[in-house]
Formats: sequence, C-alpha cells, structure tokens
Amino acid sequence: MKIEEVLSLVRQHIRSLQPYSSARDEFDQSSVDAKSFIYLDANENPYNTGYNRYPDPHQRELKSKLGAIKNINPENMFLGNGSDEPIDLLIRLFCSEKNNVVIPSPTYGMYKVSAEINHVSVKAPLLTSDFQIDAKAVVPSLDEDSRIIFLCSPNNPTGNLLKSGEIETLLKTSNKIVVVDEAYIDFSQNQSWSQRLDEFPNMIVLQTLSKAWGLAGLRLGMAMAHEEIIRLLDKIKSPYNISSAAQDLVSRALDNIKFKDEWVRWILDEREFLTSSLKEMTGIEKVYPTDANFFLVRMPNAHTVYQQLVEKGIVVRDRSNVKLCEGCLRITVGTHEENVALLSALKSLMS
Ligand SMILES: *Cc1c(COP(=O)(O)O)cnc(C)c1O
Repeated sequence: MKIEEVLSLVRQHIRSLQPYSSARDEFDQSSVDAKSFIYLDANENPYNTGYNRYPDPHQRELKSKLGAIKNINPENMFLGNGSDEPIDLLIRLFCSEKNNVVIPSPTYGMYKVSAEINHVSVKAPLLTSDFQIDAKAVVPSLDEDSRIIFLCSPNNPTGNLLKSGEIETLLKTSNKIVVVDEAYIDFSQNQSWSQRLDEFPNMIVLQTLSKAWGLAGLRLGMAMAHEEIIRLLDKIKSPYNISSAAQDLVSRALDNIKFKDEWVRWILDEREFLTSSLKEMTGIEKVYPTDANFFLVRMPNAHTVYQQLVEKGIVVRDRSNVKLCEGCLRITVGTHEENVALLSALKSLMS
C-alpha cells in the first residue's frame, strides 16, 4: 500500500482539521536557550513546585532516548498515556460509525472496548485452534467499510507469536490498516515489526513500558508508524498527554536498560520453572507454549480453581469462558517465591 492510499482511509474531517496550538508551540523553543526565558504565556503559577510548568507536548527528550533504544526515528514515534491511548486514537483517526474493525480472537480486550466506545462495529473471526492467524480466513471478514485489523503478537491471552508470513500477507494484500501490538515483544526472540516500517506504510506497531520495563504505573505506551500517521495522531491527541512526572521518571528508567534485561532473564527462567513444574502436576491437562511473561493452563473446573486460588490470596486470570480458551487460566510469571506459592496452592487443590 502506498502512503497516499493509507491517508485516504483517514476520516476526512481530521485530515483538514486545525489542531490546538499550545502556548509553547507558538515560538521556536530550540533556537535559543529556552530555559532562561520568562514564561508569561500559559497562565501557569510562576512559583516553583517542580511541576508548575506544563510538560513538553512533544516529549522530545523521551522520544530521542526511546528512539535510540528501539532504533526508530522520533518522527516515526507517538507516545501515549499507555498503549491504550493510541488504540483509541487510531480508531478515532480511521473509523466513523459506518466503519468496522477486524479483531482475530481471542485477543486483548481493549481493541473491542475502544471500538464499541466509539460506536464502531467489530468483526471477530476466530484464530485457528493453535491460536494462529490464517490470512485466508481473515480476508473474508473484510469489506469496503473495514478500516483496521488488530493483531497482537505475542498474543494476549494465548502467549504465542503470530506467524510472520500470515501477518505479511495481511499487510500486503488487505489494503487496510494493520496494527501489530507488541506489548510482550521483549520476552520473545523475534525482531520487532517496527524495523520494517519502510516496507509497510499501512502498519502501526504498538509497544509499551508496562510489561518488561516494569513501569505499568507510569502509563507510557508507543505507536510506531509512517511519519504521516504519527503527525495525524499528534494532531488529535490531547496536547499534554504525558505528564512531566511520567516523562522524568521514564527518562531516568531508560538509562538503566540493564535492569530491564536482567528482569527479562529472571522472568524467562521462572517461566521455565513454572511451566515445567505444571506439566508434571496431576490434574493439569495442558500447559500452552508461550513467547510472553504469561501462559495458559487448561484443567477441569478452571473457574472453581480460580475462585479457590483467590480464597488463598492468589489471583490469576480466569479465561475459561473465552472462546478457544475453554478450561484455561492465564498465569503471569511472578517472583520465585510467588511462583512456589502458586504451585503449592495448586497442588493442594488438585489432589
Ligand atoms: C498489557 C497490554 C498492553 C499495555 O497497555 P498499556 O496501556 O500500555 O499499559 C497493550 N496491549 C496488550 C496486548 C497488552 O496485554
């Protein structure tokens, strides 16, 4: 798809819309030492609380650090209040009420919720029984009003990577926006799709600092895409969507990539410990393979086991009423002590 064709999918009124121009956008902040200016333009309180000034609406410092870590130009990067923000903005950018989005399922629930909040209808073709996408089975769900296909790889709640060949087929042949949500990419061995933005102007890659980076509480997600799409997302976001506190704290955390790498190694070791222990436990029917920091386990009476675990103070995710995940609980890998506690609780419930 050419970028011109991609832009033709954008809602017309947004293409011509004049965005809000914040006080700090009206002059060039980079030309002189802007820090020494006297700022009487934004109705802020002049007394220093540490946070009396509005944050940088373009998050320049963060984008430059993240760009270096992820090998992405800052112009190809949008930062949001979690990746839930770009999910919502993408729907608002491409879909009016007559449009629909296609969500191969089971997958992350926010795509559907965001679509429904925006009164956009959802088509949810099923993944295959081994949780893969089959491009041939997705294409019949597409019609002329379809705008976005949401893919999640590694997929939540199933844990597996989606086959690259099938994703590539959809990117090349669907003529739709294809979102690839890589919230769990740091736990997998695969290269990020973000390294192939030049090939696919209709692709938007989502990542987040909420999982491997251990910063869920700060709310920082990103969308990586063709710079024209990033410009449109910037146009419709609220001007100061990332607080100064989040920008400062995330920026500091990004200086310590070695912590993230170490946590990922520990979590992968613990994942191996947990899954191999569960495979040997009587009463467990199946432990699904995973490329993420969680996995599905199937057992009889999964819902009852879920409730009994809660009574013991251990909370997992009950996915037993989700199509294709019948009888399954989704377990997030914890610390060694937490995993040992889970195993011993399950053992006593199963016997
Ligand atoms: C956890 C998760 C996210 C992250 O959402 P944030 O808003 O960035 O915390 C995004 N997509 C998937 C599939 C997830 O599981």
